[in-house]
Parts: sequence; C-alpha cells; structure tokens
Amino acid sequence: MSSAPSIPSFHEPLPIDVFLESAVHTYIYDDLRQFEHAFLYFFKERNLNFDRPVALLADSSDELVFLIASCWRLGIPFVTIDAGLSAREQSQYLQQVRVELIICDQDPEHPDFSCPTVHISRFALAKILKPDFTPEPWVKDHKKNINPDQIFGYFFTSGTTGIPKIVPLKRRQVLYGAKASEANIDPGRNQLWLLSLPLHHVGGVSVILRSLLYGSGVYRMDTFDISRVTELLDKKQHMVAASMVPTMLKRLMKRGDFSVHDHFMAILLGGGPLDGTLVDECFNRGIPVVASYGMTETCAQIAANPLMTVGDLSRPRESVGQVFSPNRIEIRDESAQALEEGDSGQIWLKGPQVFEGYYQTKNQGCFFDRDGWFNTGDYGHLNHRGELFIEARRTDLIVSGGENVSPLEVEQALRKVAPVQEAAVVGVPDEEWGQKVVAAVVAKKGQHIDPDAIRQKLRSKISSFKVPKQIIQLDAIPRNKTGKVLRDKVQESIASRL
Ligand code: ATP
Ligand code: MG
Repeated sequence: MSSAPSIPSFHEPLPIDVFLESAVHTYIYDDLRQFEHAFLYFFKERNLNFDRPVALLADSSDELVFLIASCWRLGIPFVTIDAGLSAREQSQYLQQVRVELIICDQDPEHPDFSCPTVHISRFALAKILKPDFTPEPWVKDHKKNINPDQIFGYFFTSGTTGIPKIVPLKRRQVLYGAKASEANIDPGRNQLWLLSLPLHHVGGVSVILRSLLYGSGVYRMDTFDISRVTELLDKKQHMVAASMVPTMLKRLMKRGDFSVHDHFMAILLGGGPLDGTLVDECFNRGIPVVASYGMTETCAQIAANPLMTVGDLSRPRESVGQVFSPNRIEIRDESAQALEEGDSGQIWLKGPQVFEGYYQTKNQGCFFDRDGWFNTGDYGHLNHRGELFIEARRTDLIVSGGENVSPLEVEQALRKVAPVQEAAVVGVPDEEWGQKVVAAVVAKKGQHIDPDAIRQKLRSKISSFKVPKQIIQLDAIPRNKTGKVLRDKVQESIASRL
C-alpha cells in the first residue's frame, strides 16, 4: 500500500531579508513580524473570532500585502474583495461570505456592512502596538494550532462563465503548489518576484504566499505600467521573476525594446489561454517563460511547462506541461469514461491541490464524481509524455456538423493572418450545422478586414470545417479584468451584426 505523501515544508524566512519592495519603500521580514504582532494584538484585544474570515476590501497597497501575509502566517482566514466594484456589488459579495471584520481603504462607515469595519491605515506598520508590549508568546501560542487542513482564504473565481463562485482554499493546497513551482522558479533570498496581478484573485495572492514560503521578496506595482515593467525587468538585477496573464505579456512584447537582464529566471504565465506564437516569440528574443495551467479551485497553477531554452524543440511550446505530482489528471468523455492518450476530452483532476467544494453550494455533485475527481470544465488532451494541451472550456467548444472545433485553435490561426490583431471565435446556432463557427476580429491599426481573403488564407492553416463561416470586424474584443474573452458578450455583438 502506498503511503500518503508528506506535506511539503519550507524554511522560516530570515528577519533581515527583503520581504516587500514597492516604488517608495523596502521592508524586511522583521517589519512583517512586527506588523503581524500588531494585527494579532488588535484581534485579541477585541475578542474577535479567528475562525470567521476577515474581508480585505482595498486597492493594492503595501498594507494590503502585509495584511494578506499576516493572515497567512497567523492562520486567520481572509477574503480579498475588489475595491473597484460598486458599493452594491461589494455588499453582495460580503453578504455571501460571513465575515468577522472588514478592513477597507475607503469608507469604513459603509451603511450596508453588517459587521465592524476598520480603516486600513489603522494597521500602518505596528503603529497600534504599545511600545512596552511584546505579544511574542501570544503569537507563538497562536501559531501552534495552525494546520495544513485549515482554510486560509475564500476566493472568487473570475466570473468568465457566469456569476463568480466562492472557493474555500486550504493551506496544504498552497504548500503543494509552491513546492512544485519551486522546481521551476526558485528566486532565493533577497530576490524579488514582480507582483502586478490584482490581489482579489488567487493568482496575485499566491505570489505573496510563495515568497513567504521561499523566504524571497515581492516587488509590488499598483498597476501594470508597461514602461516601468520594461525598465525593472531589464535593469533591476534582483528582480528575477514575474507573474503575468497572457494579455500583459502581449502588451510587453509589442514593445520592440522589451528585454530581460541576465539573472532573470522566468515570467510565469497563466490564468488564461496562451498563444503558442507568443511563447515562441519570447524564446526567440531570449525571454524565459514558464507556461502554466490552473484555476482558483486548484489554488492557481497545477501544471506548468518548465523553462525551455531557445532551440530546445523537445517539448512542445503549446503545452502547459505535466500536472504537478502527486496530483493526478484524467481526460474523460462526456459519460466520464477515461480516454486514451492523445484523445480530446474533459479535464478531470484529483489530489492535494484540488479544492473540496464551493462555499455553500448545494449541487457540488455536478463537479465531483464519487471518487472525489473534479471536473474542471476545461477540454484538452495529453501526449505520450503526459504533457497537457488545453483546447477550450467545455462550454466554449463548438460542435459544427458533428465535429468539435476548439475556438482557441481557430483564434490562434486567425492571429497569424494579416491584418488580424485580435480574434474571438464562437459558435452560433445554425439549422444546417447545429452550430456554425463565427469569428469576431479586430484589425491592426488603420487597416480593414476582408473576410473572404482571411478565410482563403485560413484554409491552408486549419481544416475547412474549422474555418469561420462568417467573420465580422469589431473595435475591441470584450474581455474581463484578467484579459479573458467574454464569449457571451462576443456572441451578443455578433448577433447584433448578423
Ligand atoms: P468562472 O469559473 O467564474 O467562470 P474562470 O474559470 O475564468 O471563471 P479562474 O479560476 O480565474 O476563473 O480561471 C481558471 C480558468 O482559466 C481555467 O479553468 C481555464 O479555463 C482558464 N485557463 C487557465 N490557464 C489556462 C491556460 N494555460 N490555457 C487555457 N486556459 C487556461
Ligand atoms: Mg472556472
């Protein structure tokens, strides 16, 4: 009988090492320790309940990074909420997760909030600690009870396919993910990982958590400023890694002068469909990229294609690599029967990085089978080396004349045809075909789309049943904040034009 894998462990960071850097400040781990003490003191003094989550409702700031890091280190569950949402949306989100306390950076007297609210500046570094007070024994005592099966946070999915779902994530999910990722990118002490992703999704938060575990540092940016990122990755020798969604990398690559310094390890790319051509272009320009696949439910990346060097053709660029051990993957058909290597089907996952169910949702059975395998809702295949290729979300897959068409494949082909700048492909109901393939495209600046010419060029790149029956031009492809195509909006735009 095989024994259960042991929970991955990490070293305590060194107090003098850099924890966080931003445009104006540099903080070391000892600053975090003090902040964390102040935070625990605040909780204890008010007799707050550590089992219910704290809501962190704020734009990205150094304090927010400190709060997230302290919650993790103290085992206080948290939920980060997008401060850019309207007041109504914020209170809708807050009504869904019963929180103990709200820490926000705007109006603490929000009338709809039914629990205590505190302004974030209350936690400005260790200010609330009395000079003669040392909460050290409390902290030690408190930390004794933290265990890997504890929920550390509640995260909203991106809402690409509907209303965002709430995912409770356990500490062990972070530990396994971080250990596997360390094999690809291990930044080291006093080395920085660029954090420009929003902190209300798991992708951004996991940059902070991984750094805490590795004892390395985070470089925080308020927004993804292209010129600043270009400068940092090219000049700042301690900046050795960056997390990005594909749209960010695309914007960087558009700048002909984007390059990275010699010590730079990799851009960790994930969160949405990758473009093989973009990855190729990066390699050709000497920019190391680790392409990953994951979702909120798996606590960010659960598969990654390790670094490839220029000219290394042994691993396919379009793959997101193997699933991190000891997690397991199966490709199954519609009746949940496992398929053979190379066959396309639904991606199912099982293992210590996979969540156990959405927060207070009754129909969990739709997502899990009896053995605890999770149906991701994504569609793809594995090659002979177990490398995964993502083809589409199950719901985005187009079935035209009985043939499956991956919108991602058609979009990729379209992007290689001039003058297409961007493309989104959807299925539109059709009497003859069931669904027909239709594309919305954005032309390169100042240029016009000739649908027939594009269709003609596509025929040499993809099978004829995949070539869009219609191509319409849009000014912009509707996307969500993380750059994912909002296909229902694309469908609406197309419907109004057909
Ligand atoms: P919702 O579940 O609310 O509709 P979402 O699925 O977009 O939103 P996330 O958890 O942020 O929310 O995103 C995970 C999804 O992103 C995956 O299930 C997959 O569809 C997509 N994705 C992530 N990485 C990749 C990748 N490398 N290639 C293609 N798709 C990816
Ligand atoms: Mg999802």
